[in-house]
Amino acid sequence: MSHQPLVPPFDRPFKLADYDPEDTSSGDKEQALADIVALRLRLNELQDVLYADRRFALLVVLQGIDAAGKDSTVKSVFQEVGLLGCDVVSFGVPTAEEAAHDFLWRYHRHAPERGKFMIFNRSYYESVLVERVKNLVPKETWKARYDQINRFERFLSDEGTVVMKFFLHISKDEQRQRLQERIDNPNKRWKFRAGDLDERKAWDGYQEAFEDMVAKCNTEHAPWHVVPANHKWRRDVLVARALIERLEGLKLRYPQPEAGIERMRVV
Ligand code: ADP
Repeated sequence: MSHQPLVPPFDRPFKLADYDPEDTSSGDKEQALADIVALRLRLNELQDVLYADRRFALLVVLQGIDAAGKDSTVKSVFQEVGLLGCDVVSFGVPTAEEAAHDFLWRYHRHAPERGKFMIFNRSYYESVLVERVKNLVPKETWKARYDQINRFERFLSDEGTVVMKFFLHISKDEQRQRLQERIDNPNKRWKFRAGDLDERKAWDGYQEAFEDMVAKCNTEHAPWHVVPANHKWRRDVLVARALIERLEGLKLRYPQPEAGIERMRVV
């Protein structure tokens, strides 16, 4: 399997099987662990200027199968980003109130204001993942949602929200090891539910749904990044670098201070 770009090309059909979750082709562990320290600091600098600049918001969408490392990516990549400028929200099973609304309602309410980062730990993509795989809605309903999601993201981006989506791609064997570790480690056991084994049985259905999610909703304004995530050190560097690159492309700037302020003296 050859090395693939993080953002799949827009002009070719997307096949998840071409993407190796194990991929370590660009760099070793020691280097990555050194790099991530500087990348975290850089991300915080960029958040600071995004906050001052107030033209843009950043929405980070994290998806992946159980144990793909969504929580751990949040903890690692955003470690240096100040609490003032960054929020995270995790989406579980919808409440009765949420389920009574259109499927984007509960997410749109949490969209970031300009100047802020918002991380969606799971997202509206669950509407074409778990809801599809578990037959929670009819096929016509989830099929129509890819388009609806594209339009929603287009709208957010037109309004100044930069949307960056990361699919954390792990192998089936890596998931087995991580779930087993949850059972074996007393401090992680709370994370495990017997139902996780049923979800694992639906592995193939999820892979198909992930493939469609990327194939149908990978756009220039809201690109999907398919992150080889078997190795946490590699995953974190890839996510951080992609965010930094995108934010740097915005040419963020601190606002002009009032004229003459530089000559003032505080007495
Ligand atoms: P996580 O697994 O993300 O650490 P939880 O253990 O709280 O957190 O799991 C969240 C659960 O919510 C997942 O099983 C997921 O499938 C479910 N969920 C998320 N969104 C939806 C949705 N729209 N419909 C049904 N279930 C959902």
